[in-house]
Amino acid sequence: MMFYDNGLRFDCRMCRYCCSAEPGYVYLTKKDIEAASRAMGMTEEEFIRKCCRLVDFGSYSLVSLLERSDYDCIMLTERGCAIYEARPLQCRTYPFWKNVLESRESWEREGRSCPGIGKGRLYSAKEIEKLLKAGEEPPYIVIRK
Ligand code: SF4
Repeated sequence: MMFYDNGLRFDCRMCRYCCSAEPGYVYLTKKDIEAASRAMGMTEEEFIRKCCRLVDFGSYSLVSLLERSDYDCIMLTERGCAIYEARPLQCRTYPFWKNVLESRESWEREGRSCPGIGKGRLYSAKEIEKLLKAGEEPPYIVIRK
């Protein structure tokens, strides 16, 4: 029995809180890098150099989107996400993340930051499981020499 067996409501209100407001990481998969660099008209190397940062995990690094000094995501424009159709897996699966779906409390706690949680469209347990599964795709790893 999961607390979301009867589904959960979510409808993005486009408030942009999750794309700005607080420092954070958007870790990219290999497919994310391919799609985002294509959407930006850049090579993957250029995209990583201009739009990403390497986050150090000791023997390896993960690739995360850059943030501006006010914590806005580098991809955030006045008209919204510059790569919305090619947005990273982490953004596409939000808020159906493992840590958010740990319990009803964690879901409700997330809802205090995201006004779309608990509103609008009902996602079935099956859809939620599918998003959780999709989110398991590992991030792109850069081995440090
Ligand atoms: S915080 Fe929630 S409602 Fe606001 S943009 Fe992000 S997903 Fe949408």
